[in-house]
Amino acid sequence: MAPICRAVHTEIVNRMDFKTQGRRPVSRCDQLGVAPFSVDPQVLTRPYLTDAHKAALDALRTWMTEAGMSVRIDPVGNMIGRYEGERPNAPALLIGSHIDSVQNGGRYDGALGVMLGVETVDAFARAGRRLPFAIEVIAFGDEEGSRFPASMLCSGALAAGADPAALEARDENGVTIAQALTAFGLDPAKAGEARRAPGEILAYVEPHIEQGPVLEAEDLPVGVVTGIAAQLRIKARFTGQAGHAGTSPMGLRRDAVAAAAAAILAVETVATEGGPHLVGTVGRIIASTSAFNVIAGSCEIGIDLRAASRDVRNAAAARIRERIEAIAAERNVGLEFTVVQDLPGSPSNETLTELMAEAVGDVGVRPYRLMSGAGHDAMMLSSLCPTTMLFIRCERGISHNPAETVRDDDVGVAALTMVAFVERLASAQAQLMAAQ
Ligand SMILES: [Zn+2]
Repeated sequence: MAPICRAVHTEIVNRMDFKTQGRRPVSRCDQLGVAPFSVDPQVLTRPYLTDAHKAALDALRTWMTEAGMSVRIDPVGNMIGRYEGERPNAPALLIGSHIDSVQNGGRYDGALGVMLGVETVDAFARAGRRLPFAIEVIAFGDEEGSRFPASMLCSGALAAGADPAALEARDENGVTIAQALTAFGLDPAKAGEARRAPGEILAYVEPHIEQGPVLEAEDLPVGVVTGIAAQLRIKARFTGQAGHAGTSPMGLRRDAVAAAAAAILAVETVATEGGPHLVGTVGRIIASTSAFNVIAGSCEIGIDLRAASRDVRNAAAARIRERIEAIAAERNVGLEFTVVQDLPGSPSNETLTELMAEAVGDVGVRPYRLMSGAGHDAMMLSSLCPTTMLFIRCERGISHNPAETVRDDDVGVAALTMVAFVERLASAQAQLMAAQ
């Protein structure tokens, strides 16, 4: 690839002052971490379409406007700031993440990606640079599903349209999404208009905290995301014979919990043998008894399997099933397998991911690629446009927790990487257009 246009990039990167670069986006997330940006005065809880969500958008509107963007709220409550390109109405590079939080959440999950989008535009606006594409920074209203029993509703509405039936989902007070949209000052009848046409969006890039410990283990501030894992959830139910803990000899038992325990270890073994891009977990165990003196007649476990590719995941699922069937047969217990969720996963676009890796290198950091084990808005956007993600190290991988922490200098690396990425995308796009 030809050398990138370095006008803005060199000016900023030469200073290499990562800590200073990262301070503002971090402090903005901190500012949004308390009331009135949280519905709970003690901890951070910012669900979709609440007063706290509205307060956060009011603050964001100011920051987006100061960075040179024109700002609007779309019909499902996504806030979008637009920085025009060299030509009016050019397709937009979309940068962002979600602005809602889980209950008792961390300050950086979602919000940091939005703030990094604002920083990226700010860097180009300050330098007076326009690009061959527009940049839009987006704050998705609902990713976590912390108010309504629906998640990624807003990115789904943007990519594929809002399902009117989904707007009838209710929160715990019986308020529907449609009613909440109205109370927010939006018109639910127009929810379908949140959908974007494929030609309007050039690509989607989501900076997000890693929410895992891999970057910390690698001693790296950022990582390039190769894709979002394919997820499979399976219930395995063991049926044995309930009995008295004192009177049943060991050789005559059909203990459902003991069978489940062996199965749990089999899941761990298969996942461990499957390499770094496969993870398997049993986080759910429901036994028919919780008594000390009863042999459980039945036990159900929930298996969560995730891998970079569906093939790897399915092969692991087949091995697990084989081993658990052998365990059930050996212990003479009944076994029932049910797949309860099958998400195909979402590989990042290879060209964008390569550009992001080069951008990480531009900032002087070793480009490191990793899979996302968690779901993100980028999954939904991948049906609309090419997507990729940049992960930022978070302390001990802790997330969905008030203890979530990022370092200013890591966020500074991410901010400069985003600028370098936009420069590389502009250069690559110009080359592509020249070649046509
Ligand atoms: Zn998130």
